[in-house]
Amino acid sequence: VSLLYRLKKLVPAMFDDETESPKPSQSFNDRIGLIRGDITKLEVGAIVNAANNSLLGGGGVDGAIHRAAGPDLVKECRKLKGCDTGSAKITGAYDLPCQKVIHAVGPVFSSRFEEECAEDLAGCYTTSLELAVANDCKSIAFSALSTGIYGYPSDEAAPVAIKAVKDFLESEDGDKLEKVVFTTFVQKDVDAYNKWLPRFFPST
Ligand code: ADP
Repeated sequence: VSLLYRLKKLVPAMFDDETESPKPSQSFNDRIGLIRGDITKLEVGAIVNAANNSLLGGGGVDGAIHRAAGPDLVKECRKLKGCDTGSAKITGAYDLPCQKVIHAVGPVFSSRFEEECAEDLAGCYTTSLELAVANDCKSIAFSALSTGIYGYPSDEAAPVAIKAVKDFLESEDGDKLEKVVFTTFVQKDVDAYNKWLPRFFPST
C-alpha cells in the first residue's frame, strides 16, 4: 500500500480538497503537514521520539513510544550507549506501525542559554532528517521535541523546528523526503504551529 494512501486514510483532512480542512489537521504545501494526535499511531517512514540522553525510555511521548513498540525497542536502544543532546539515533520500530524510530535528544530549556538551546533543538531536527534520508524513509513525523517535560516554550520551539525542516527540504538531500508531519498533542503546540507554519510556508 502506498505511503500516500496510508496518509490519506490516517489524515483525510490533509488531502481532501472538497471539504474544508478542519484545523489543525492541515497541509501547508504538498510536503508539510500539521496534525494533532498520537504519534505512535502514524504509519510513516519514521517517527521522531523526544528521548533523553540515556535512550532507555522516559515519560511523555518517549514512554508512549516504548509502550507501543514493545520491549524489544529498549533492547536495541541499550546497544546505542546513549546520545548527545542536540543529536539523534535511529532504531527499528517493532510493534509500531511506522518503519523506524528516530530518538532525538532535545535540550532542557534554560532562558539563560537560549541560543545554545536553539542550536541543540535545530540539531535534533536536522540530524533526524538526515537519518531518515540515510535509511530510505520517505516520510517523517516529528513530536514537538523539548516542549513537554524539558520546558522549551512552544512559541519559541516551533520556529526553530520549522526553520530547520525548511532548510533541509531546500538542501541537496531535501527532495529525498516526500512528507514531513509536525505532530502536536496539546493545544499550546497546535497554536504555535498554526502561528508559525504559514510564516515559513506561505500559501500562494
Ligand atoms: P521533552 O522531555 O522533550 O519535553 P515530552 O515527551 O515531555 O518530551 O514532550 C514532547 C512533546 O510530546 C510534548 O509536546 C507532548 O505534548 C507531546 N506528546 C506526549 N505524548 C505524545 C504522543 N503520544 N504523541 C505525540 N506527542 C506526544
